Amino acid sequence: MPIISEILRRRDELTAIRRDIHAHPELAFAEERTADLVAAKLAEFGCEVHRGLAGTGVVGTIRRGNAPGAIGLRADMDALPIRELNDFAHRSTAEGKMHACGHDGHTAMLLGAAQYLAATRQFEGTVHLIFQPAEEGGGGGRVMVEHGLFAKFPCDAVFALHNKPGIPVGEIAARAGPLLAASDRWDIRIKARGSHAAAPHLGVDPFVIGAQIVLALQTITSRNLDPLDSAVVTVGFVNGGTAYNVIPDGLHIGGTSRSFRPQVRDLIERRIGEIARGVAALHGASAEAEYRRNYPATVNHAAETEFAAEVAAEICGVEHVLRDLPPSMGGEDFSFMLNACPGAMLWLGNGPGEDGCVLHNARYDFNDNALPIGASFLARLAERFLEKRAL
Ligand SMILES: [Zn+2]
Ligand SMILES: [Zn+2]
Repeated sequence: MPIISEILRRRDELTAIRRDIHAHPELAFAEERTADLVAAKLAEFGCEVHRGLAGTGVVGTIRRGNAPGAIGLRADMDALPIRELNDFAHRSTAEGKMHACGHDGHTAMLLGAAQYLAATRQFEGTVHLIFQPAEEGGGGGRVMVEHGLFAKFPCDAVFALHNKPGIPVGEIAARAGPLLAASDRWDIRIKARGSHAAAPHLGVDPFVIGAQIVLALQTITSRNLDPLDSAVVTVGFVNGGTAYNVIPDGLHIGGTSRSFRPQVRDLIERRIGEIARGVAALHGASAEAEYRRNYPATVNHAAETEFAAEVAAEICGVEHVLRDLPPSMGGEDFSFMLNACPGAMLWLGNGPGEDGCVLHNARYDFNDNALPIGASFLARLAERFLEKRAL
């Protein structure tokens, strides 16, 4: 497998960096130690270092010559609020925090690519290495874009690599078009009328209304949506009531919805409100629905995906580049970068995903064998992209 030999030689160093980050996880927008480590390494490698974008964001820049081409490579740095259940030496030292999504690996791989690119500079143009905070729900990618990421660091294309358990190490998956869903959150607050549990006729019972709303919400995907479209509406909690013998005044229902097409997102938002208000009115109560658009769908651009797939084939062999992996209903804030700049996110094989080694599981661990592959892919992507631009 033609992994870049300079990167393969530094495999132990990359592994040490990855495990150090794993042992010191930090949550969204609080990636202080991680950002310090990233900035120090980038400076050591000879990159220009910019700090402070979206708070803890770091951008490293490597230039060669005066060619105008520029590529962005993005990694995320944040961990999750999970108590790690692993007992290996590099387990989390921060109680209740854990790198359970492999962002420790993403950061280490991009540092590996940075080290190689800064040392060899076999390209004409500019490479921006984007280390973003707060991917896990905080929208650090959105904040970076809003704070002028692509105005300060103009890129012709931007790429990201996310590890994926269930795909063997040594394989990369590339898919043009929708890759990950839009991820939104919503709340429904029912205002009914409390009464004695033994005298329901004197009040308006919010539980009966809530139960009907929960069931009716499922008709959005089963009856309102074109059967050929994909979406999910999931109730995450129902909160209300305090006593066995009291009918409360209200009920709070919350959940998430996932979709790909903007029209489907609009439909879900509209129907959640109509169902909540309509079912409540049917029973002489009222309800308010609040819908918050969190991450848009991650949609890979076709030409950039094809280009990245060719580079993946160069690193992994064409038979190890998966082209037909279905999209996932998970969400990613790299979507904000893809809405501002052409590019693609690819999946990097992390191994079988057995014994709880799946994303967001308390026993997850990034597979260090994937580090030189991911770092080689990112580095070669920059070299090939800028070679193409310089022609
Ligand atoms: Zn995650
Ligand atoms: Zn992730």
